[in-house]
Amino acid sequence: MSIRSMDSRSRRRRALVMLLALLAIWVTAACGGGDDDGGATTGTGVKVVATTTQIGALTREVAGGEVELTVLLSEGADAHDYEPSPKAVAQIKDADVVLVNGIGLDAWLDDVISGAGAERVVVVTDGIAIRGADAEHGDDEEHDEGDPHVWHDPENVKLMVDNIAAALSEADPEKAATFQASSDAYKAKLDAVDAQVRALIDSIPAENRKIVTNHDSFGYFFDRYGLEFVGAIIPGTSKDAQPSAKDLADLTDLIKREGVKAIFAEEEVDPKVASQLAADTGVAIVTGLYADSLGAPGSGAETVDGMLLSNATKIAEALR
Ligand SMILES: [Zn+2]
Repeated sequence: MSIRSMDSRSRRRRALVMLLALLAIWVTAACGGGDDDGGATTGTGVKVVATTTQIGALTREVAGGEVELTVLLSEGADAHDYEPSPKAVAQIKDADVVLVNGIGLDAWLDDVISGAGAERVVVVTDGIAIRGADAEHGDDEEHDEGDPHVWHDPENVKLMVDNIAAALSEADPEKAATFQASSDAYKAKLDAVDAQVRALIDSIPAENRKIVTNHDSFGYFFDRYGLEFVGAIIPGTSKDAQPSAKDLADLTDLIKREGVKAIFAEEEVDPKVASQLAADTGVAIVTGLYADSLGAPGSGAETVDGMLLSNATKIAEALR
């Protein structure tokens, strides 16, 4: 072997090592979701960490600025697959109360919590009747516990509000009356929004109340307001799975056979496949539904009540 060829081989190897290093940095950045700052913190009082945007917003309704609230997920982040940054882990360990969704959604927190002391963790969905629990998702580990997207039914949200108020009152008993008054007021607002949503959905002709979504996340909403879920592009209630060519062909047939009027693509999911499917079937595509995350401040969907109304309005406009 000549010196020259050894040189070029070691150069190639060095280039490869550098490429791998760059790839590692890129993968780390992608998986971290750019959340190196940890969650955004507001207010003063006992330290409360909320995992999802929905729990964060509900805690704000119950507590106002009367707790120091950190919300781990930012708008549009994937609640199914989040990797807490070192700062977020520190915020969790430092919290007086950690409010989690449970039902497998924020299972990514389990390792952090087991290291942080489980007695401060409150599952805010306790008491809710879970769709599809111990149903047919046998091969899908995340969904043995059922459908985690409970916030699309205002009655479930009211239970979440009660659980949050109870947890905060236990952590800071002096403010219990304040938390109670705010949660009562917010539950009344949810009742009003429930009536508005029902009126919107009732304005859709019965034969048009058929829906295809990007991933199966609106089951509670459809059940409550009498919409028929025909199918989802991404199989299961997770976002991790990818549809096969056969899945898409079957769904295309189903859309045509059922006379589905529109395909709904959630705000948080790349609508590319949904757009293709809409083009193939000649059906309208509706983007911008809030499924797993609330909207950004100013979107009108930064609160749970605003999110429900925003989704109902878009659905009604598309199907009427
Ligand atoms: Zn989801």
